[in-house]
Amino acid sequence: MTKLYQHPTKQLFAYVLEDKRELIIQNIFGDTLEIPIFSLFFKYFPHDKGLKVIAVDDSPAEVIDLFFQVLVDITTEPYHYELTPSALTVELAGKQIHSETISLPQTTEKTLLIATRNEGKTKEFKALFSPLGYTIKNLNDFTELPDVAETGMTFEENARLKAETIAKSTGEMVLADDSGLMVDVLGGLPGVWSARFAGINATDAANNAKLLHELASTAVTPERRTAKFHTTLVVAAPDKPSLVVEGEWLGSIATIPKGENGFGYDPLFVDDETGKTAAQLTLSQKNKRSHRAIALQNLLKKLPEWQNS
Ligand code: IMP
Repeated sequence: MTKLYQHPTKQLFAYVLEDKRELIIQNIFGDTLEIPIFSLFFKYFPHDKGLKVIAVDDSPAEVIDLFFQVLVDITTEPYHYELTPSALTVELAGKQIHSETISLPQTTEKTLLIATRNEGKTKEFKALFSPLGYTIKNLNDFTELPDVAETGMTFEENARLKAETIAKSTGEMVLADDSGLMVDVLGGLPGVWSARFAGINATDAANNAKLLHELASTAVTPERRTAKFHTTLVVAAPDKPSLVVEGEWLGSIATIPKGENGFGYDPLFVDDETGKTAAQLTLSQKNKRSHRAIALQNLLKKLPEWQNS
């Protein structure tokens, strides 16, 4: 990480990741605001007041706006910027501090169809992708489509099956995910069978009870209860190879369920870093470290290049 900016009195730091795709604003308590910078290239440069400005050639105006708001909050300097298809100009305190010609890539229609009928999941993806200029749809917009059975033996097979089948029949760019819990001493089970470990249509409580039973019956010592949550995301579009990314969250399996939040195996999954179960973490704490969050970060890094390929 490159340190970009440290505020003299507000104890705020701004970092930009080395791959220059994300800006992170951090306070002394370690709270962070992460801003994906969805661009083909960007650059930053100093100016006489010490403010650094990042020019992004392919970011939706909202992302740039958010970025400048954060900078303004840090610097308290008034600013004004204008982004047109061919130029970016930035004024600070009424003085033009930067002007450059930029070449925006051909604007393509960016619609992403999420392979789910679950509105909660759709909402999560919408929050992430809408600021980046994507229109998000889900399968409830395609009521005539039959459900794709998850018959694969791996997370990738299942996610591919959903994304590629639906991309083919709708002609849309489709994002599908498949997730689950993998317990080392059970050889990676429940894995792709996580939702139905205790049987078809099993409840979360039944799946958790089955997991505890399996670990009790194999007399597993505490050190051997290691596990991980895994997510594979696949983006498919007609006539091109799919994009596949993954995310993992390391932990272990508790002996009794703890915590009220989350879903699925959260009450039994102890996060390696905090020692708390996923159900004891707040949603925002979970969303910073979860397998899904990591997979999504990986996706955001690779999606622009894949989409333009
Ligand atoms: P899906 O592929 O996201 O629908 O996840 C399949 C199953 O894996 C869920 O029904 C849960 O049992 C389990 N699972 C996936 N992600 C999580 C999680 O974040 N917490 C707890 N259980 C999860």
